[in-house]
Amino acid sequence: MSNEHVQMSPKVAIITGGAQGIGRAVALRFASSGYKVSVADVDKEAGLELVKLIGKAGGEAMFLKVDVAEQQEVERWIRVTVQELGRIDVLVNNAGIGKNGPVLELPLEAFDRVIGVNLRGTFICSQLAAREMRKLGKGAIVNIASTRALMSEPNTEAYSASKGGILALTHAMAVSLGGFGIRVNAISPGWIETGDWQKSSRASVPVHSERDKLQHPVGRVGKPDDIAAACLYLAEDSASFITGQNLVIDGGMTVKMIYE
Ligand code: NAD
Repeated sequence: MSNEHVQMSPKVAIITGGAQGIGRAVALRFASSGYKVSVADVDKEAGLELVKLIGKAGGEAMFLKVDVAEQQEVERWIRVTVQELGRIDVLVNNAGIGKNGPVLELPLEAFDRVIGVNLRGTFICSQLAAREMRKLGKGAIVNIASTRALMSEPNTEAYSASKGGILALTHAMAVSLGGFGIRVNAISPGWIETGDWQKSSRASVPVHSERDKLQHPVGRVGKPDDIAAACLYLAEDSASFITGQNLVIDGGMTVKMIYE
């Protein structure tokens, strides 16, 4: 058989919180690049809408309703994905929530839930997906952190701590999983407008003031595709020498010094 006739089995990318916002753009970007896609999200309406969208565009996608903080739900997602799509090449840990409140009043339940979804959820999904990647001898994990892992507004302790934890988890897992051929990197988005990337029943048209735009040296607020493009780059072999890193994508917002 000549090389032309060798069938390459399509790669599989799995994305948490992939039904809306940045995750939706990530799912669409991987699907349009030839990956089969499996999305886990708590929002069923949004997830089913996304699967239709990818199908219409000629791609292949599946959705399962999963809370990433619940180990058994993630286990089921990974099991069903491997049954249906055959393998796991890429995991994008994107699901995230914020519950901000005055630091002196913030209920511990709120703190625990944010850490549970953002940090513990990232660990659960990475551990279970990496067991599948180990069977292939290669894989890539991309964790969505935040510039809030590096700097803060007041009263954002739970969210910032969860994102700082994700950066530490990224370098720790990069070191632990390197021997299995698995790379682990993080992306820290700045201000990304997601209003127009929600499910159709709640999507909105974004409006930004000149002041909003000028906070960014590039002169605009971020778009989900800015993050999706970087996820794809970090997942592919072109990034095979990059692991344990944090890529800040914020239009330069965090390098701009402000004297007022
Ligand atoms: P979004 O709210 O638009 O979308 C998040 C998606 O995750 C939703 O579909 C939601 O249903 C799902 N989700 C929420 N909790 C979940 C859970 N427990 N299990 C599974 N799915 C769950 O959010 P976004 O703005 O697109 O953010 C995506 C990621 O990017 C988050 O980790 C967020 O912290 C990070 N981030 C966003 C920005 C920004 O400006 N938008 C900036 C920095 C970091």
